[in-house]
Amino acid sequence: NFAERSEEQVSGAKVIAQALKTQDVEYVFGIVGIPVTEIAIAAQQLGIKYIGMRNEQAACYAASAIGYLTGRPGVCLVVSGPGLIHALGGMANANVNCWPLLVIGGSPERNQETMGAFQEFPQVEACRLYTKFSARPSSIEAVPFVIEKAVRSSIYGRPGACYVDIPADFVNLQVNVSSIKHVERCMSPPISMAETSAVCTAASVIKNAKQPLLIIGKGAAYAHAEESIQKLVEQYKLPFLPTPMGKGVVPDNHPYCVGAARSRALQFADVIVLFGARLNWILHFGLPPRYQPDVKFIQVDICAEELGNNVKPAVTLLGDINAVTKQLLEEFDKTPWQYPPESKWWKTLREKMKSNEAASKELASRESLPMNYYTVFYHVQEQLPRDCFVVSEGANTMDIGRTVLQNYLPRHRLDAGTFGTMGVGLGFAIAAAMVAKDRSPGQRVICVEGDSAFGFSGMEVETICRYNLPIILLVVNNNGIYQGFDTDTWKEMLKFQDAASVVPPMCLLPNSHYEQVMTAFGGKGYFVKTPEELQKSLRQSLADTAKPSLINIMIEPQATRKTQGFPRLG
Ligand code: ADP
Ligand code: MG
Repeated sequence: NFAERSEEQVSGAKVIAQALKTQDVEYVFGIVGIPVTEIAIAAQQLGIKYIGMRNEQAACYAASAIGYLTGRPGVCLVVSGPGLIHALGGMANANVNCWPLLVIGGSPERNQETMGAFQEFPQVEACRLYTKFSARPSSIEAVPFVIEKAVRSSIYGRPGACYVDIPADFVNLQVNVSSIKHVERCMSPPISMAETSAVCTAASVIKNAKQPLLIIGKGAAYAHAEESIQKLVEQYKLPFLPTPMGKGVVPDNHPYCVGAARSRALQFADVIVLFGARLNWILHFGLPPRYQPDVKFIQVDICAEELGNNVKPAVTLLGDINAVTKQLLEEFDKTPWQYPPESKWWKTLREKMKSNEAASKELASRESLPMNYYTVFYHVQEQLPRDCFVVSEGANTMDIGRTVLQNYLPRHRLDAGTFGTMGVGLGFAIAAAMVAKDRSPGQRVICVEGDSAFGFSGMEVETICRYNLPIILLVVNNNGIYQGFDTDTWKEMLKFQDAASVVPPMCLLPNSHYEQVMTAFGGKGYFVKTPEELQKSLRQSLADTAKPSLINIMIEPQATRKTQGFPRLG
């Protein structure tokens, strides 16, 4: 049929790229190969940015951070079989964090299915456990519909990961342009509000609290609830505690932030309002001895199934955090009220904060070498630009760093998160740097890594240099996982036996020059041992806007946290 043959044709790859473009996908991270290379090329031709990474896991972490930072999913594009399996870690991490993500995986041609095709694997089934939605379009014509549905599923309700499988034969297929139906961009999620009577009850429970506490989670950050929550805090003079990634929704240096008295605040509060924070291990399940047995929880969450997990809440507010906070503000507005600033509760919290801060400062001021964690972080904090992204992972590096490094802006901290994932740092930093470059040029990303954490995705330094991203990597190096040994002990240990027999499992090679990974690709590397060297290298790295840098900071291999009232989290 001549009419059909003369019609304009389009490749499957272009149809897929156009569907992503229509859904406002701005960034694709991935590793190309058969059969997805053409998709990446087609995406770039439509103005979507493609960032080639060195491992699918890091690519997937990066794409998921885009979802958290922008509210629309980033895409992770991977090849079939092993490529897709490497991305599962990123999918799990995104899903557990409740972050939107879209993974597109190539798969073998349909006519080779079950025949032992190259890199064949049951991909749609494999992804189901890691996602909210996992599907393969039935034809190239169905691709725009399925991609719209995947994007919609990733951002509606509780956000999460989605997977779309693309058989190789779709990619190079030529189809008539007229056979591809236009599918509209999916709208931003509808905003839901809590039931009015529940808002009333919640307001009265808060008003009657003797020792109230607001907990601000990364759900509040994701919901862009910063303005309303800050208003709630300030208007009613309520103490608040950010979770790790809830930091910055209200600035850490706000007078009502009780982060420095975290354990005390949790332990003695009689009413706790949870704004987008689950009562999981991060919040010690909401149970004694970390909490009062009769503490009243008010849960604000978009996910109904979350309400009532681990505790019986006093009030549940099902809805969008920003909308619900505004409802609370309106309710409070009806009768003038504020929490008394001279209360015993405030006094207790302030005293505890003071003594905790003094203990950290004392540790930071110690002049012995090698440095301890506190000394390092106090010097970093002094030079940290107010608007920078802070990415952090590691054990002590992340835990101690979080108490010293301040966030002043929402969605500016990315870390190991709910899943406690090590290896996320460089991918997250790359995503944050892409967002910074495009939305507020000049903004920096400071990525604070433990030496072990850095190792998981260390080769992404090449990616950072290839795209010349505004990232400063700090490797806080204690020669190991939790702790390590110095060079002398190391040599002593290896005198009579081989390493695999005697080296403790947590040890890494002492005195490793991680900064040379950066110089290998043309970035700036620094090896520092003293506070002065640290200060100087930080100053230079911040001044040098033309190049990424890595500062390898040698600390006491046996350094630990200051004594805690309760054992560590993870
Ligand atoms: P954190 O680690 O900071 O404690 P969690 O990840 O445990 O935070 O909790 C975040 C919560 O926020 C999740 O239960 C999620 O359902 C919820 N959430 C995400 N977006 C919204 C929103 N727009 N409105 C209300 N709740 C939200
Ligand atoms: Mg270490």
